Amino acid sequence: MKVIIIGSGIVGASAAYHLVKNNTEVMMIDKNHQGAATSAGAGIVCPWISSVEDADWYKIAKQGANYYPELISQLKEDNEENVGYKKVGALRIGTDSDELDRIENEVRTKQKDAPELGDIERLTPTEARELFPPLHEGMEAVFVSGAARVDGRLITDAMKRAAQKHGAKLVNGEAELIHERGRITGARVNGEKFYADAVLLTAGAWSQKLLAPIGIDLKVESQRGQIAHIKLSATDTSNWPVVLPKGSHYMLAFDDSRIVAGATRETGAGFDYRTTVGGVHEVTTEALSVAPGLAEGTLQEVRVGFRPLGPDVLPILGELDNVKDVVVATGLGASGLTMGPYVGALAASIVTGEEVDLDLTAYNPMRAIKITN
Ligand code: FAD
Repeated sequence: MKVIIIGSGIVGASAAYHLVKNNTEVMMIDKNHQGAATSAGAGIVCPWISSVEDADWYKIAKQGANYYPELISQLKEDNEENVGYKKVGALRIGTDSDELDRIENEVRTKQKDAPELGDIERLTPTEARELFPPLHEGMEAVFVSGAARVDGRLITDAMKRAAQKHGAKLVNGEAELIHERGRITGARVNGEKFYADAVLLTAGAWSQKLLAPIGIDLKVESQRGQIAHIKLSATDTSNWPVVLPKGSHYMLAFDDSRIVAGATRETGAGFDYRTTVGGVHEVTTEALSVAPGLAEGTLQEVRVGFRPLGPDVLPILGELDNVKDVVVATGLGASGLTMGPYVGALAASIVTGEEVDLDLTAYNPMRAIKITN
């Protein structure tokens, strides 16, 4: 079987890796658009503390987090160890003890079916600051030890390299679909046509543009996210936990004395690849309000990424009713680094017709589609 994969962000790279290891001939096509979400994403993997209240979202996000250790051991067998994944734990911080009590209880309930979330501890402000020193003095916390951070660029590059070691090909360029008699038969790129038995669309926020020429309006839009990278001087941040205040902003640390503070959620900004004054103001103000100790850090970089935002919080995953030999895997929104590798593996199984261990009904792409001709 031959499969063309359009888009090799975290979802496409994972699908390619799983397909090629399953004796499928794979061609990845990627344009490397500015603002690919995987390259800008923060990398928090902690579905057990989230403002999203949707059972189908939780199911797939939980599986996604749980899938990482397995993926990492597979990549290790392929000599890919620079994956940027580490279980550092997460602090849900706050000043309202009653609210933290409620969150602690919720996480304890989830722990029964999710032992991978690790230990749960209630921390005093002093204990919380021992783990994340720039924090404001008055912040209590609920600590969840199984939360992780992942560098989206490193893990995706590792999966792509591993897929290529197993024989996958990678073509750089912008793909267009070849649509013949109700089937997607391949893709056109750099003036050349390539044919396959199936085409997998993992084109992130660009998925709508890819399907529009064949009369399919996929409800996926770009949500711009701006995220600040702050360098601290001579500080070992390698074991600092993820910090989750109330709301959608957060912080996490990477090994090289770097704190990442994010992120804006700019629906309607389209593909406008810019760092804006308002965006930088928003993320730095939010970060400093809970971690004033970051004020002396150096603002090293602001990354900009386009999240693929579907009509709801759920991924868009599966075949289309009206066009044959195409599978869509996108719409992972703000949770794509958590669930991307797992969703990619599911997409690979859908393409080859293998059974999967999750009921996929809720993620059916037809809920996000309007036929325009
Ligand atoms: P992308 O990574 O965007 O990849 C799509 C690829 O397809 C691109 O490389 C593009 O060039 C290519 N492409 C598109 N069209 C074509 C075409 N026609 N031909 C060829 N190539 C094409 N998630 C979390 O779980 N935790 C987080 O902490 C987190 N933080 C985030 C912070 C920010 C600021 C942002 C922007 C996102 C964050 N996310 C997070 C979400 C996550 O990054 C995304 O959901 C995920 O990376 C989406 O992956 P993808 O593979 O679907 O898309």
